Amino acid sequence: DHPAAANFVRELVIADGEQQTFGGRVQTRFPPEPNGYLHIGHGKAITIDFELAREFDGVCNLRFDDTNPESEDTTYVDAIIDDLAWLGYPVDKALYASDYFEQLYTWAVMFIENDLAYVDEQDGDTISEQRGGYGNPGIESPFRNRPVAESLDLFRRMRAGDFDDGGPVLRAKIDMQHENMQLRDPIMYRIRNAEHHRTGDAWKIYPTYDWAHGQSDAIEGVTHSLCTLEFDSHRALYDWYLDRIRELDGLPYEQPRQTEFARLELTHTVTSKRKLKQLIDDGIVDGWDDPRLPTLRGLRKRGYPAESIREFFEFIGVSRTNSRNEIELLESFVRRRLNAITQRRMAVLRPLKVVITNWPSNDDGSMHVEHMELVNNPENADDGTRQVPFSGEFWIEQDDFNADPPPKYYRLTPGREVRLRGAYFVTCESFDTDADGNVTQVNVTYDPETKGGNSPDGRKVKSTMHWVSTAHAVDASVALYERLFSAEVPGEATGDVMDDLDANSRELLTGCKVEPALADTAPGDVVQFERLGYFAHDPEQSMLFHRTVGLRDEWAN
Ligand code: ATP
Ligand code: MG
Ligand code: MG
Repeated sequence: DHPAAANFVRELVIADGEQQTFGGRVQTRFPPEPNGYLHIGHGKAITIDFELAREFDGVCNLRFDDTNPESEDTTYVDAIIDDLAWLGYPVDKALYASDYFEQLYTWAVMFIENDLAYVDEQDGDTISEQRGGYGNPGIESPFRNRPVAESLDLFRRMRAGDFDDGGPVLRAKIDMQHENMQLRDPIMYRIRNAEHHRTGDAWKIYPTYDWAHGQSDAIEGVTHSLCTLEFDSHRALYDWYLDRIRELDGLPYEQPRQTEFARLELTHTVTSKRKLKQLIDDGIVDGWDDPRLPTLRGLRKRGYPAESIREFFEFIGVSRTNSRNEIELLESFVRRRLNAITQRRMAVLRPLKVVITNWPSNDDGSMHVEHMELVNNPENADDGTRQVPFSGEFWIEQDDFNADPPPKYYRLTPGREVRLRGAYFVTCESFDTDADGNVTQVNVTYDPETKGGNSPDGRKVKSTMHWVSTAHAVDASVALYERLFSAEVPGEATGDVMDDLDANSRELLTGCKVEPALADTAPGDVVQFERLGYFAHDPEQSMLFHRTVGLRDEWAN
């Protein structure tokens, strides 16, 4: 019932297929830098790349873009592989840009020999000043026309480790007056005396993103190199490098082509590794897997089914226009999926005790217990029913009783009869209070004829409430979440996203009372708490539940 939106990249792939542009092949790649955890924005890129490969019988590589040794780590490599598998795209063999360092070096030497690159010994500030700007001319480096042999010698010494960080750089010799700043003699290599998580200290020079990316695509045989719009201005450089390599050395496959699409942005949250890291470093959230974060780990812990995330991406489509999608839309996919698959359970978050004054005792004076048969999932008959113990004392939500009810309050109130889900009709006879006037206990009578929740005389009640037998209740803790950022567009008003943080984005409730079956919930499983929403069992802490989403769809289109 949700029609898929347009996907211009898909149209492009179809057109390329018809024209046999890449010999009919489709190959994509997802190229994360292993310097942080994946967020839902990456999820969009992943879905686009992997789904295209799947649909057109192609290949999608996971390639780590590991060219910045200081910020990268195998922890992130492992986490990214794990997150990809969770999202539905398991990867057998990850590829690494660092595997191509030797080939990239060889090509760089070839560029120098062909007067397409030179070693610049100016400092970084000078080089960026000389780059100029739009409408401002660039200034050629005094080293630009140095002899090839000098550059070759320096470049070899750069590799050998003769220089400190900030030392000479290798630059492509293109055009210091080019209207696209990316082509004003971009840097290809810089010195980094750092330990790389895979190559150790073998390398003292590291390729820039631009020098590594297109070449890695070409080495692997990528056809469609898809990235976000901010790389639009890099495309000319992507092509320039590959055109020169093709002329000088040939390419192993058809030359890949970069295509840009709009990045994902969502209301009430941020999808930038840098800003997410700041939230963690500032102690605003607990870590990369905090259920309030839009990281894949956070969403997983929160209880978002991976399928619903993929369905959301299919629905919003792919375009070249930047926009911000409503978080309520994503949530409506989550809710729809959870409605179909989750088991229903009863849980009382803020308990108030109810005592049935006419409940019988057993002949031996012990507590009389009955078992009520409740449906596990009305959406799926195969899920069957379960027996839920009921006795003369049970918990209800504090706000399901009101001693002095406002108009249109249909729940329990003195003199009112209500239905207990799957159990009995009960009528409120009285209530007890403490010295401050707080209600401490509600006293009711039950109608034994209404077992199962229906009255034989056809008597109607206006509300049905959930309950948990006090003698059988299991204690639980529940985390309720609000938006991490109260503003739709965090930072829109002041320029600083931190100004829009909601200080009360998490409410932790302890002493919640839940039905015994919930003690069997597997770590990470999501269940519906009747009337309250969907809740995910914490993967580590037993009987801690995170509210995934409420029951009511808030997406209005
Ligand atoms: P961030 O900007 O959050 O730090 P990044 O681009 O630096 O992300 P990478 O690991 O380089 O992180 O990203 C891998 C791929 O994911 C890139 O191709 C990038 O274009 C894509 N990507 C990153 N953020 C988004 C987003 N919000 N929407 C869609 N694709 C994204
Ligand atoms: Mg990046
Ligand atoms: Mg980025």
